[in-house]
Amino acid sequence: MNFYDSEKMSDLLKPHGYQLDNNEDNADLIVLNTCHIREKAVEKTYSELGRIRDKIKLRKEKTGKKSIVAVAGCVAQAQGKEIMKRSPWVDIVVGPQSYQNLPELISKVDPVKNNKYIDIEFPTIPKFDHLDCHISDRSPSAFLTIQEGCDKFCTFCVVPYTRGAEYSRPLTSIIDEAKKLVDSGVKEITLLGQNVNAWNAVGKDKNIWGLGRLIEELAKIKDLKFIRYTTSHPLDMDIELIEAHRDIDKLMPYLHLPVQSGSDKVLKMMNRKHTSAEYIKVIDKIRDYNPKIAISGDFIIGFPGETDKDHQATLNLIKEINYSQAYSFKYSSRPGTPAVVFFNHVDENIKNSRLQEVQDLLRLQQMEFNKQFINSTQKVLVLKNGKKNGQYLGRSPFNQSIYFYSDNNLIGSTIDINVTEAFQNSLTGVIKPNKNI
Ligand code: SAH
Ligand code: SF4
Repeated sequence: MNFYDSEKMSDLLKPHGYQLDNNEDNADLIVLNTCHIREKAVEKTYSELGRIRDKIKLRKEKTGKKSIVAVAGCVAQAQGKEIMKRSPWVDIVVGPQSYQNLPELISKVDPVKNNKYIDIEFPTIPKFDHLDCHISDRSPSAFLTIQEGCDKFCTFCVVPYTRGAEYSRPLTSIIDEAKKLVDSGVKEITLLGQNVNAWNAVGKDKNIWGLGRLIEELAKIKDLKFIRYTTSHPLDMDIELIEAHRDIDKLMPYLHLPVQSGSDKVLKMMNRKHTSAEYIKVIDKIRDYNPKIAISGDFIIGFPGETDKDHQATLNLIKEINYSQAYSFKYSSRPGTPAVVFFNHVDENIKNSRLQEVQDLLRLQQMEFNKQFINSTQKVLVLKNGKKNGQYLGRSPFNQSIYFYSDNNLIGSTIDINVTEAFQNSLTGVIKPNKNI
């Protein structure tokens, strides 16, 4: 979502004379878009701010010029004034629900007066109403935020506090943006939300639509070839969405459905509101409707009170589901969340060894999943050049990276690739020979 927000900020600032510069030393404006989900991400914000001061800001000031430094994103939202205190060279702090005000805030910064601005409001008029700007420089695959915030309040998570209450963007605003993206050359759209499948809004028939209906509507956009969505919550996987995975060809056979833990005791402490059996039931149902679907997930390792038995339950659940790929993180204590004051925080060494075990198992499953594709033909969207000369990187329907070579510029096209080799994180292949030649 930060990636999407960054692209939006860049679109917003273009009419004000700014353009993206790959060399940060030249930048008149540096926007650091930050994440607060785990402590490590927050630490990175402050070390990056120190680097920006030493490498860019001070050096530029020696030549009599000033660059403006803005901190955006969820660290900005959560820490506000604290950022100005710890890093007084920051000019602007702007939260994820108010970055539409960035152009105005920038215009107010006065290099002589050294004034500072903080905007971490949750405005009553949703920011999307102000973000209807010209779209440019998108890759063939783009993100589109349709839902933000969360009302579920898992005890480990900062999202309800930093991104605010659950909000679904209206249908017309989503369709308009999707059409604009497609007109600018985009072939694949990933719909985004912290709980994307909780999206609901008034549909064309005046009934309330869920994500399945939205995807059906988006699939009508002729030149949009691939649709994805992330991240979902198990409790919001309704039958319409499950049916969409059977019925809508443009919806890719990939589902990222976090469970966090395989232990019902831990799930309860996490306030996940579902058991491991309920999660497995949802996955079974999805697989009934689309047997080939690739399943991904998220795991938190070492939540307070997690015992060896709970950890074993997580390993068992992973074995039962058999993931195509999944993310796992050590539990990170987040200020202001209920779990901070829970007893029995797990020792760091134990967390590390459990994480290792989970990741080894997930890696094994990912490798096995990828291996099945050797000698198959995959319809691949070509995303960009690879690192090597003539090499291209594309994405398979199952969300795998596929590398192949071509003498022609194929970026943005859909092409059949015969898979030759499988690795942990990618596949390699060759373009399927055209029978007519
Ligand atoms: N809404 C989604 C997840 C959004 S947050 C869901 O409910 O599943 C993205 C991921 O970050 C989570 O799935 C979780 O695995 C991880 N995460 C969130 N808070 C965390 C914390 N305090 N420590 C470690 N990982 C965390
Ligand atoms: Fe965070 Fe997801 Fe739980 Fe919401 S449902 S609080 S976003 S982990």
